[in-house]
Amino acid sequence: MSMIEFHDVEKYYGDFHALKHINLTIDKGEVVVIIGPSGSGKSTLLRSMNGLNTISEGKLVVNNFDLADKKTDINKIRREVGMVFQHFNLYANKTVLQNVSLAPQLVLKEDKAQSEKEAMDLLNLVGLADKAQSYPSMLSGGQEQRVAIARSLAMKPQALLFDEPTSALDPEMIGDVLDVMKKVAADGMTMIVVTHEMGFAKEVANRLIFMADGEVLEDDDTKSFFAHP
Ligand code: ADP
Ligand code: ADP
Repeated sequence: MSMIEFHDVEKYYGDFHALKHINLTIDKGEVVVIIGPSGSGKSTLLRSMNGLNTISEGKLVVNNFDLADKKTDINKIRREVGMVFQHFNLYANKTVLQNVSLAPQLVLKEDKAQSEKEAMDLLNLVGLADKAQSYPSMLSGGQEQRVAIARSLAMKPQALLFDEPTSALDPEMIGDVLDVMKKVAADGMTMIVVTHEMGFAKEVANRLIFMADGEVLEDDDTKSFFAHP
């Protein structure tokens, strides 16, 4: 079952050709890591997958919805395909528990008790149940990112996109965040991850995509990728 399909996709920023004839199918349950030099289009590719960036040409189908179709509800796509950013953007004046449980209440119309119970389960998963009543300013960057992952999961997405989730973190925080991502992958989540963490790629991803200059230059299963001379 395919989750995301790119058919001959092109992206221009003005005259600049940022994505060049992209053809990709990502299936449900895949964990895909995207690597490549800065400016190669990784973020542009990722952000197009939930409609944060529009494409210029071609066809993009996400969870069976054509993103170019006027009838497609882009907000629904964004709920179904969550995104974890380099900077976590937690609500500073809300507790950790509120950060994780508010969107399910407001958007998914869950009742407060149910959403808070689910939020506590997710905080357990990311190892931060004891911080439920803390405010983001009291957390380390790594803890904030783990809350951000819990918050994304609280929306019960079909897939999660990660845009350099550990790049803004102090080195000693990175392992804990990658461990959480590994658990999420083990639970069967479809994940597309832009990262420089090759250890994570090798250990967790089933597939690696290498981009350069707006093109997909390699798209291989992880084993073959690391077997290259
Ligand atoms: P990467 O994530 O691989 O670093 P990006 O997708 O962020 O690459 O960017 C690819 C290229 O597109 C870069 O040259 C970048 O400057 C350019 N770019 C990204 N966003 C915009 C934008 N909104 N307007 C113009 N150019 C952009
Ligand atoms: P990131 O750290 O995620 O790669 P960037 O610094 O590349 O972020 O981009 C930050 C924002 O600026 C993004 O919204 C991106 O689309 C936009 N942007 C990046 N490059 C350009 C550019 N050359 N011209 C205009 N906007 C750009």
